[in-house]
Amino acid sequence: MDVAKEILTKIKAYQTIIIHRHQRPDPDAIGSQVGLAEIVRASFPDKKVYQVGGSVEGLEFLAKMDDVTDATYQNALVIVTDTANSPRISDERYNLGAELIKIDHHPNDDPYGDLVWVNTKASSCSEIIADFYHLNEDELTMNNNAARLLYAGIVGDTGRFLYPATTAHTLEVAAELMAYDFSAADLNRELEKMPMRVAKLAGYVYQNIYVDEFGAAKIMLPQSLLNEYGIVDSETAAIVSLPGAIENVVAWGIFVEQPEGYYRVRLRSKGPVINELAKKHHGGGHPLASGANAKNQKEVDEIYTEIQQLCKTYKNKG
Ligand code: AMP
Repeated sequence: MDVAKEILTKIKAYQTIIIHRHQRPDPDAIGSQVGLAEIVRASFPDKKVYQVGGSVEGLEFLAKMDDVTDATYQNALVIVTDTANSPRISDERYNLGAELIKIDHHPNDDPYGDLVWVNTKASSCSEIIADFYHLNEDELTMNNNAARLLYAGIVGDTGRFLYPATTAHTLEVAAELMAYDFSAADLNRELEKMPMRVAKLAGYVYQNIYVDEFGAAKIMLPQSLLNEYGIVDSETAAIVSLPGAIENVVAWGIFVEQPEGYYRVRLRSKGPVINELAKKHHGGGHPLASGANAKNQKEVDEIYTEIQQLCKTYKNKG
């Protein structure tokens, strides 16, 4: 039996299904999580389906989360979407259920779960959920809200169909979702909307970015600056892709100082693979979009030096 059928068999076997995603959710985390929840609800109205993981700051227009008690996990099926590593799962009670399923599009470095569906070729986890629906179309129901959520996840993770993970299949899936009754234009506007303070931070990024001769770029966002602009960590998501638009920039790191003093590092690349570098620094992710952590300025410098080396090797290859 293929994995999409196996997952459906599990869903059918359980009365309670609890769906998790990763911490600091982005549109694909929420889109895949709640998109799946909505499909299961629409298909099996008698089942109890919960979406959990706490607040979704800035993404409330997509969905709200449910509060569940520990007792709810008894005899429940737990599904986690869009989350490569178990420590990143939002709400550590994911282990309290009877069975655990992982559905993801990141490299499968941590194959947690009794059943795992990982497709690293998918643009987004939302695309995989749309595939899950298609592969079981005779037994599942899509509705307008599920389509809206999955569309949002695909738009979010592909940078509006810009990044290389966007395939012909991605566009086919997006086209089918768009045929449901929601306004893709309104949704796109909502997704790109930013407060003025974030727009000003974008200006700061372009004014202060450092780019070396090989296209390795770096921007430091110390706590003092975030406080001055009134920015919280989650809002830096809006500026992560900006350096990619600058000609000559090949790969970049955005070093966001945390209140505790360490740095969250957001890594992006237009060519050199950067997730191995991320893994060396308590992180991971996709070949061209990863995250890591630096405990102090010394580790920040080490990471930037490694980005420079990757860019140099990449440029020399040609
Ligand atoms: P971000 O910069 O947070 O948008 O992350 C980009 C990608 O890297 C996402 O796909 C994350 O799953 C992954 N990622 C970010 N931080 C970590 C981490 N600490 N450990 C593993 N993967 C991460």
